[in-house]
Amino acid sequence: MSASKKGLALGDLIQSIEPSPTLSITALAGSLKAAGHDIISFSAGQPDFDTPDHIKEAAKAALDAGKTKYEPVVGVKVLRDAVAKLYTERGLKDLSAANVVISTGAKHSLYGCTQVLLDPGDECIIPAPYWVTYPAQVLLARATPVFVGSTEDNGFKMTAADFRAAITPRTRMLILNSPNNPTGAVYTRAELEAIADVCLEHQIAVLWDSIYDELIYGGLEMLEFATLRPGLQDLTITVNGLSKSHAMTGWRLGYLVAPPAVADAVSKLQSQSTSNATSITQWAALAALQGDQEPTRAMKVHFDRRRKLMVELLRAIPGVTCAEPMGAFYTFPNLSAHLGKTGPDGVIADDNALCNHLLKNCGVATVPGSAFGAPGNVRLSYATDDDSIRAGLARIAEGLAALK
Ligand code: PMP
Ligand code: GLU
Repeated sequence: MSASKKGLALGDLIQSIEPSPTLSITALAGSLKAAGHDIISFSAGQPDFDTPDHIKEAAKAALDAGKTKYEPVVGVKVLRDAVAKLYTERGLKDLSAANVVISTGAKHSLYGCTQVLLDPGDECIIPAPYWVTYPAQVLLARATPVFVGSTEDNGFKMTAADFRAAITPRTRMLILNSPNNPTGAVYTRAELEAIADVCLEHQIAVLWDSIYDELIYGGLEMLEFATLRPGLQDLTITVNGLSKSHAMTGWRLGYLVAPPAVADAVSKLQSQSTSNATSITQWAALAALQGDQEPTRAMKVHFDRRRKLMVELLRAIPGVTCAEPMGAFYTFPNLSAHLGKTGPDGVIADDNALCNHLLKNCGVATVPGSAFGAPGNVRLSYATDDDSIRAGLARIAEGLAALK
């Protein structure tokens, strides 16, 4: 096929991928605001807090100390040791720096894992609703995403029975995200154990994305999938980062914890693509992991209060239902009762049209559920201040009431 292409015609693979809708809607909301429009943004997938001072100070000190050279591809040893220590404390066994690869964000670690584990034709099971990037990364590995749905009634969690039913001889991997983006769902120990048993029985690799693990509410426990059953650590790659827990989205720092053979393969890929994560960021990350965790706890208190406020305001709007999110900083209400109605720009045919209406006519940025495999829902981030939540929800209530 490529023989017929000329000049700068793009390859087939990249043309099969959409740009990240979460990033593009957030950018659109930002540029509308910059152009003077009155926009309240619930699209942001990042804490609205600044990075804690002691982390910034560590970066400044690294800069002054001349830590500005190439570092090992897998990351500086002390940082990998710190990650290994953290996960040893969380119950993983026999860890050392050899199990850890530092990357330029959890997104980058996930990319590395899909690239080194998946072959063309392999199937990767992704519970829906899912974070937008998972299917794209599976496609970028020339593998096939297989979606397993869930319902609002069961809290948007994939059951072990539905997982089992989706397995074929080509199933290679499961991507599991708890707390979940976009639903805020948090799996319980029993739910994860049931899924773990299926993984062990069929020897399915698990990509455990726990980027929101510091943001679990209502006293639910933080769990490490790799520790749930004997032997599971050999099937599990744990991916995490500092973007959400330490308000460091722009620093670009993530990591994975995996059996050494997988870590080595990801290292090989990074050595031929990105090399090390930014040297200065790695010293800041060390301070984040080893320093005072109070800022992380304080952010969680704010998120929890905003979560309750947003859920209460959403549930008060006619025609809106909202499962209680138990983690992360998103709500995922169902607005499908408003689809098919007519607004100033015509019929609101789907959740994309609904989000366009909310942005254009009400000045509120949200992300359509179809981007996450859940048409009819909408994602609202509560990583913003209480006043914006109150004002934005009032605008949404008004904008929905105006639909006929
Ligand atoms: N996983 C999930 C579920 C996410 O929402 C995000 C987005 N921040 C990431 C991974 C990637 O985070 P980062 O690359 O900033 O570490
Ligand atoms: N993960 C965040 C979100 O879902 C940030 C954007 C992105 O990386 O896609 O909004």
